[in-house]
Amino acid sequence: MTPPSESRVLAVDVGGTTMKGSVFDEDGRVRHSIVVPSTADDGEDPVKAVRALCRQLRDDAIELGAAPAGIGVVTPGIVDESAGVVKYAANIRFREVPLGAIIRDDLGLPVAIGHDARAAGVAEAVAGAGRGLDNFLLLPLGTGIAATVVLNGVPVPGAAWSAGEVGHMPIHPDGEPCSCGQRGCLEVYASAGGIARRYARLGGAPGLDSESIARAATVDPLARRVWDAATHTLGTALATLTLALDPACIVLGGGLAEAGAQLFDPVRETLRAALAWRSPPALLRSDFGARAAQLGAAILARRAAGLAVPDSWGAPRP
Ligand SMILES: [Zn+2]
Repeated sequence: MTPPSESRVLAVDVGGTTMKGSVFDEDGRVRHSIVVPSTADDGEDPVKAVRALCRQLRDDAIELGAAPAGIGVVTPGIVDESAGVVKYAANIRFREVPLGAIIRDDLGLPVAIGHDARAAGVAEAVAGAGRGLDNFLLLPLGTGIAATVVLNGVPVPGAAWSAGEVGHMPIHPDGEPCSCGQRGCLEVYASAGGIARRYARLGGAPGLDSESIARAATVDPLARRVWDAATHTLGTALATLTLALDPACIVLGGGLAEAGAQLFDPVRETLRAALAWRSPPALLRSDFGARAAQLGAAILARRAAGLAVPDSWGAPRP
């Protein structure tokens, strides 16, 4: 029988294309990681791959010297965190999956099930740009756009576990169609996926990603137009969110935030111009890149296992 480490936890971030699992040490460092395909398209039971990854991770932790104290698993979609049930997640084909009970039976460990964007908000509150703030907003800008409202360190889940779907705010009421069935949604214009699709649809070279389009914006008028629409639409959405919530700051994460000043400067300018009578909140870049949700899962795992989570636990080290 392997003794529990008392302190090491497992964290799994289930995405539409890949799943990332890590073993976190007591001090918040990642000791070991695995990335595997989500295999959501092959007709197999979509939960099988998640269970296999969790078991693998547990076995790896034991091989590293000690059984883990708990596990946190985060997914996209509608997630009832208190019941540990993924109610609906289209891109991983989960519907009413009691994931918490399943993983607990498989591993015999304390389990926390979370929502990926809200877990990222937990990571920002403990160890990132939202540390020490009563209230902030986190928007991961990726394939789509979500927002997490964090109040006193706790992400707001909403009445039906659906808060934060701001990607479908209709910013341009007669605008271009969105996959959700509405028109003019924020993420049609301002998500990484939306920027790439718009550029191709308006006659640009197909297959260019948002990063290349951002780079081309200095020389290519179409890239400039698409990029300007993205930053303007995002700034307008953030003005609306600021008026509703008065956040202490807004943290932008996900791949698109890597564009740095090219994104932040025009978004700040739109936000400032749209909030004529009040000062805009600070606009900050996430410290975590794509790993915020996984760090959030590790924090949830520590809490589920009854372990303390010190300030700045898991923060990036210089
Ligand atoms: Zn939409």
